[in-house]
Amino acid sequence: MSEKQFNGRSAIVTGGTRGIGKAISLELARRGANVAFNYSKSADEAERLKAEIEALGVKAYAAQCDVARTVASAEFVAKVKEEFGGIDYLVNNAGITRDQLILRMKEEDWDAVIDTNLKGAWNFSKAAIRPMMRNENGGSILNISSISGVVGMLGQSNYSASKAGMIGLTKSLAKEIASRKVTVNALALGLIETDMASGMNDEYREKIIAQIPLGRLGSVAEVADIACFMLSPSAAYITGQVIQADGGLAM
Ligand code: NDP
Repeated sequence: MSEKQFNGRSAIVTGGTRGIGKAISLELARRGANVAFNYSKSADEAERLKAEIEALGVKAYAAQCDVARTVASAEFVAKVKEEFGGIDYLVNNAGITRDQLILRMKEEDWDAVIDTNLKGAWNFSKAAIRPMMRNENGGSILNISSISGVVGMLGQSNYSASKAGMIGLTKSLAKEIASRKVTVNALALGLIETDMASGMNDEYREKIIAQIPLGRLGSVAEVADIACFMLSPSAAYITGQVIQADGGLAM
């Protein structure tokens, strides 16, 4: 792998301010890509990350944009195209949880999770594929899904459905745009050390770790490495696939 394998390329990462999205944004920038990211509330974190990306010698663009909103998502993508001159990669990463057993889950918790995680990925994909299809070398989309969408998880009917939906979106879109050299894949992650995972109490955490064959949570650096591989020319012959990175949890 060359150090600057993404030199001159442009990427969008949704939900870049924290956790996995931040790690992927920084790794893409380290490898030479211009990086645009959006966020929901974390304006200060966004400013800091934008400066960090620019310090790596590439362009950065950041703006508040709710991925659940179709028009705003299209406007964000159009602005990135204007700023960077094109779009090569999209990482649909923005996601939320609102866990609750279905009998106690409120309709708004179902809607918020489906709208953010699934419709958000659809919104950004729809807006970004046209510029990607016009590229001579195509492009690549990576959807950040979860093993919750593969095997289901207690208390996550909304989240599991959204993440399973992303897998369907991945496969369908991969078939639609393969002829234009645009690949679409999903990462089904297990537990990764981020704010999202820090909500677990110690007892539950130990219980989960005991079930992970590799005996630990994954790190955001590991996810960023896998994401960069999936977007890179090394993965050009992989499309419509779900790559599980979960320490062996959901074999
Ligand atoms: P975090 O909660 O740490 O970060 C979520 C990011 O998404 C933040 O940047 C947040 O912005 C942004 N975001 C949330 N809602 C919206 C929205 N409506 N519009 C735009 N941006 C939004 O999450 P993680 O890094 O842990 O997770 C990232 C992805 O990985 C998610 O899709 C998650 O489902 C998936 N995943 C995570 C796992 C884990 O163990 N951590 C396991 C499996 C999958 P802001 O800072 O402004 O709130």
